[in-house]
Amino acid sequence: MDVASLSLEALSRFVTEELGERAFRAPQLYRWLHQRGATSFDEMTDLSKALREKLRARAEIIPLVKDLEQRSIDGTIKYRWKTRDGRFIESVYMPAEDRRTLCVSTQVGCAMACSFCMTGTMGLKRNLTASEIVAQVHAVNREVRKNEGHETLRPLSNLVFMGMGEPLHNFENLKTALAILQSQDGPNFSHRHITVSTVGLVPMIERFGKETDVKLAISLNASTDEQRSKTMPVNRKWNIAALLDACRTFPLRQGRRITFEYVLIKGFNDADEDAHRLIELLKGIPVKVNLIPYNENPGLGFHTTGEERAEEFRAILADGHVAAYIRRNRGRDIAGACGQLANRGETQAGAETQT
Ligand code: SF4
Repeated sequence: MDVASLSLEALSRFVTEELGERAFRAPQLYRWLHQRGATSFDEMTDLSKALREKLRARAEIIPLVKDLEQRSIDGTIKYRWKTRDGRFIESVYMPAEDRRTLCVSTQVGCAMACSFCMTGTMGLKRNLTASEIVAQVHAVNREVRKNEGHETLRPLSNLVFMGMGEPLHNFENLKTALAILQSQDGPNFSHRHITVSTVGLVPMIERFGKETDVKLAISLNASTDEQRSKTMPVNRKWNIAALLDACRTFPLRQGRRITFEYVLIKGFNDADEDAHRLIELLKGIPVKVNLIPYNENPGLGFHTTGEERAEEFRAILADGHVAAYIRRNRGRDIAGACGQLANRGETQAGAETQT
């Protein structure tokens, strides 16, 4: 049994029904797994030897092994992890003055095939399990504690699910991972500090709104269906109108807005008309727009919008009463920025410096 993939409820059932232990052992075990991020049963010194033996025989903690660490000049660190079946995934740590954010992956590769994104070129290899999603957070908490000398068990303050993969395409595991990450007996992240980004799997947006309470971000990146379908195949199934309808009926908590991510690509979606169309499209939805100057990837053929043009674009949105912000690119020099995560490890494992 992959015990770190179980919600507290499911773990309680396993502990009582499968191991024949008293119920209070479950939260004890859960705290070891998800508050302390234990990687072996031997660390769990307040569990009896007999119970640890039983756990070793009937359960396992599946490791995520650090394979590569790359540090950007801006403080961003990209981690590459090796899964037990030899796959590679990446997470990106972004420290700032007021927060420490981790960008988390939910799949090995991605099926969505957005043409501007390196991960999209890989295709989907497999979904990550809930424990592999959560293990990225535990592992980076350990790294940050070690590197920055924190006493607290959870130095990370914010999580964004914008790494490799489409989170809503792996919804069940995402949901379990969120329940663990938000649990008081686990890392106890607030719903206000977790954002999940989707390209627009419309039926899943509704479920996401009903079954979780964390923040929603939509990766929009175009102002017409023609444009969007060219770069984001998902748009051929659910077009902009269907996506925005789902946003209009999304159950937003009071004071909350939906974030729209808009990657600015030179000469493709950064004209004045695009900004004006966006204003019209987003009418009636409480939104915040993050403008992300495109991070160029060799071979994909897209170019970044310059700073001046990005500012002009932002100003048009602001004039149209749309709150828009230009997002500072993090980790560009280590290919750790938006759209740059790619599993070069799938073909190059071991070719780069091991850490
Ligand atoms: S942008 Fe996101 S959804 Fe699109 S291919 Fe890349 S990882 Fe997948």
